[in-house]
Amino acid sequence: MTAPLRERFEAAFMPNYGVPPVALARGEGCHVWDEDGNRYLDLIAGIAVSSLGHAHPALAEAVSKQAATLAHTSNLFVNEPEVLLAERLLGLLSAPGRVFMANSGTEANECALKIALKYGKANGRTYFVAAENGFHGRTLGALSLTGKASIRDQFGPFPIDVRFVPYGDADALKQAVTDDCAAVFLEPTQGEAGVVPPPAGYFTAAREICDATGALLVLDEIQSAIGRTGHWFAHQHDGILPDVLTLAKGLGGGMPIGACVGFGDAATIFAKGDHGSTFGGNPVSAAAALAVLGTIESEGLLAHVRAVGVRLAEGIAAIRHPLLSGVRGRGLWLAAVLTEPRSVEVQDAARRAGFLVNAVQPDAVRIAPPLIITSEQAESFLAALPAILQEAAA
Ligand SMILES: *Cc1c(COP(=O)(O)O)cnc(C)c1O
Repeated sequence: MTAPLRERFEAAFMPNYGVPPVALARGEGCHVWDEDGNRYLDLIAGIAVSSLGHAHPALAEAVSKQAATLAHTSNLFVNEPEVLLAERLLGLLSAPGRVFMANSGTEANECALKIALKYGKANGRTYFVAAENGFHGRTLGALSLTGKASIRDQFGPFPIDVRFVPYGDADALKQAVTDDCAAVFLEPTQGEAGVVPPPAGYFTAAREICDATGALLVLDEIQSAIGRTGHWFAHQHDGILPDVLTLAKGLGGGMPIGACVGFGDAATIFAKGDHGSTFGGNPVSAAAALAVLGTIESEGLLAHVRAVGVRLAEGIAAIRHPLLSGVRGRGLWLAAVLTEPRSVEVQDAARRAGFLVNAVQPDAVRIAPPLIITSEQAESFLAALPAILQEAAA
């Protein structure tokens, strides 16, 4: 008899993840099934990635068709899906730009960082500003911008000078950004910190501060974009445009992809040979992303995300329970905030009740379902939540 997958995972994998609580075998729509056949409503979507849920016909068809046609070209050759995708992304943005295609979020940020480094070197700008508790990825460049000591410090010091400011504090940002600053890296809402939105006006101020000093404003929309907040991009709420934008997670609907978009001078700062990726612009991933964007548009999912998101947030806010202090976030990107650090207990109780959520912080439970989640499915979670909280509090 073969050992369960989790035991084999533990024996074969490095211990960096610990051992996840269940092994998933398949999915359909907003549901997934584990290896024992138990069904769960997926309210985390592989960390805000599976935007169209699981086994969506549009994604499955796009991927299988492209894999059966041309699965890889490398950057030595052009392929049509990558060009269509870059054009499509630029069409959704309100200013002319240029795209670099990568394979993950952290790589999209590495591209942004290299743009900022090149810009800084050309203009005598020597340091970067990022936010405390921010998350930008695990490769060394992105990690050096990540404001979370527990995951950063043991791998430092890093070769670039990054100064951290409290997130959401426009005065602190203004103090930190001088004419010597090359770039400011921010998330529109801090995802891994627990879905923490900034106060109103923060991004208008950030844009002004960068304009006044000449620092590039780099927005890490890896978690927040592609409909997650009910808009294509979260920065569209704030009516600002960054100089550099990074994307990944929900863009491929589950296929690995990342993108970095530059605007203005940042669009064309790289010269031939400055950057690259063997898999970047992979036609299968690009075809998946085109299916995601096409489906969001054809099914009116942005309005759907706003409507179901409001209902979910209101429903959580209406629950009176001593363990629940409130809800924050926007669209289908929420955190139920706890009065005590018991998010793992809530996550486990939710799973036993058939719902997958994520203990993103000790006192915050992240809810980021597929964008196609129905109102009925959202209501089923709201109906179950009081008992889940009760079990977690016990
Ligand atoms: C997930 C995430 C990243 C890193 O993406 P990977 O694909 O895991 O490398 C970077 N920034 C933000 C805001 C993220 O949420």
